[in-house]
Amino acid sequence: MAKKNKKFKTEVNTLLDLVIHSLYTKKEIYLRELISNASDAIDRARYESLTDDSLHKEGEEYKIKITPNKDERTITIADNGIGMNLEEIETHIGTIASSGTKKFLESLKEKQGADNHEFIGQFGVGFYSAFMVANEVTVVTKRRGDDQQAYEWKSEGAGSYSVDEVEKDEAGTEITLHLREGMDEYLEEWEIKKTVKQYSDYISYPVCMDVTKKEYPEAKEGEEKEPIETIEEETLNSMKAIWRKNKSEVSKEEYSEFYKHVSHDYAEPMETIHFSAEGVTEFQALVYIPSKAPLDMVTSPDQRHGIHLYVKNVFISDDCKELLPEYLRFVRGVVDSSDLPLNVSREMLQDDAVIRRIRKSLVSKILSTLKSTKERTPDKYYTFWEEFGRTVKEGLHFDSESREKLQELTLFNSTKSEDGKPVFLREYIDRMPDEQKEIYYITGDSLESLKDSPHLEALKSKDYEVLLYADPIDEWVAQTLTEYDGKKFKAIDRGDLELDSEDLKKEKEEEIKEAGEEYKDLLEFAQKALEKDVKEVKLSTRLTDSACCLVADEFGMNANMERIMKAMGQEHQPTKRTLELNHKHPLLPKMKAMLEADKEDGSIN
Ligand code: ADP
Ligand code: MG
Repeated sequence: MAKKNKKFKTEVNTLLDLVIHSLYTKKEIYLRELISNASDAIDRARYESLTDDSLHKEGEEYKIKITPNKDERTITIADNGIGMNLEEIETHIGTIASSGTKKFLESLKEKQGADNHEFIGQFGVGFYSAFMVANEVTVVTKRRGDDQQAYEWKSEGAGSYSVDEVEKDEAGTEITLHLREGMDEYLEEWEIKKTVKQYSDYISYPVCMDVTKKEYPEAKEGEEKEPIETIEEETLNSMKAIWRKNKSEVSKEEYSEFYKHVSHDYAEPMETIHFSAEGVTEFQALVYIPSKAPLDMVTSPDQRHGIHLYVKNVFISDDCKELLPEYLRFVRGVVDSSDLPLNVSREMLQDDAVIRRIRKSLVSKILSTLKSTKERTPDKYYTFWEEFGRTVKEGLHFDSESREKLQELTLFNSTKSEDGKPVFLREYIDRMPDEQKEIYYITGDSLESLKDSPHLEALKSKDYEVLLYADPIDEWVAQTLTEYDGKKFKAIDRGDLELDSEDLKKEKEEEIKEAGEEYKDLLEFAQKALEKDVKEVKLSTRLTDSACCLVADEFGMNANMERIMKAMGQEHQPTKRTLELNHKHPLLPKMKAMLEADKEDGSIN
């Protein structure tokens, strides 16, 4: 292959431009990013070699090595992880692959014109952060596996990069930064040591550097001897798995740095949950609830950065789905078990008693943490619900064991939501009028259309609150959540609404009977004309202002459910609903008059 010169995609250029011109003060975090990538690459190598023996040589030790070179003004970060082939180089560092970086650019668009310099610090820009301190970056990399070609990627960050074939003995990646003017402090031993300690201490592979040791030979009185300098490789990080430490030994900053590493998120987490279980199943867990949902959570849940599973401190998998139910898929972190075998396979994880017990205990810890967030910091909880509420609600339907806890955690939109603030069921019950017997709800495809629904009229006039179910998942919620605190849930667009006292009911029945006589012909006519579409046409007791509405049977499928089934590709014979007409609406006498006129001249049809 001849050397190729390529242009970056525009989004990469935008990003590089920002990185290079950023006045961001904590430039040393570039090292955290490159070490983090090296550690991810070793994780990968480890994981892939579980199923492919050729990827790992007997006795080979994984490590990350930092080499500053003051004469050349370069610093090199080398790892013996998975490496990259040509295609991976193009997709991973020639375009913006990382979701964290995408998120950064996305928010940048929203904040256009604002001062971006400080802003960049709240994010990380992964690999590209190297350009904060370097004006030229060279990546030499060779994929693990037999017969792999090594490549050199090189860029000055100005619009283009080159790729060429090179020779490299060992598999892995070596990234060399040519420092910019005035960045020489990043070559100092103490600076590198300090940065590794501060940001990368928890990395579970050795981060090494050759350090110069001076030894003063013993000298006689009055005699002066030159110190002897020796070079020794030193491991700069403690590698002590942060989740294996005591809570009291871990600082807030360490928790936060570790979160950023496992989640590839750059915001602070909303909650940090660190605990260990003893007894039948022993494990340590350090999991986090993020403060913001990733952009693509609903459409394509991030596959790579879920719960990391370790067995006796050895990395097994970076996304162990079996450890959490789907509806908690936004939780990030680490679980380390002593009860699983080291050679555990994907298949084994799927139905493993140990995993099931860990999962149960994780769920319970996460839900109790959310409960205390809700109680102690309600505002924080509302924000959480905006980000993840839709996902958590899936649990009401799918996790029957946790349903009781989940229904206390669920927030609902309602006709009485003030300033868009949703309500808990407990609040609903506490403020409902004494004579109200059931919990009312209505389902539909948007909050706006639900708020205008004619079905609400009779309930509004009685000051009854109605829950508005506007998310697709709410149809399932409606099927599962049928009773709370001894009160039944009632869909206001199904069956009869028994809202009135006996006396009032009788009175209305009388009225409807009379009106029924009056509109007998009209009702019969409408019934016949609409035979194909509705089950029955009758006068309504639930309407006050609107002329008509469609009502489903108590157990029939409502309009929204039909829409959802259709969207899922499940065509159903549409169930016929009842058309209710409001005899107090001015439209009715008009229609009646028209019908009578028609008998004479045939003007309808
Ligand atoms: P992220 O780490 O969030 O994915 P980065 O911008 O830090 O984003 O890195 C982009 C991608 O480049 C990584 O996902 C990885 O595929 C690849 N990469 C970066 N550094 C290395 C490395 N040392 N070894 C192998 N692949 C790497
Ligand atoms: Mg990274």
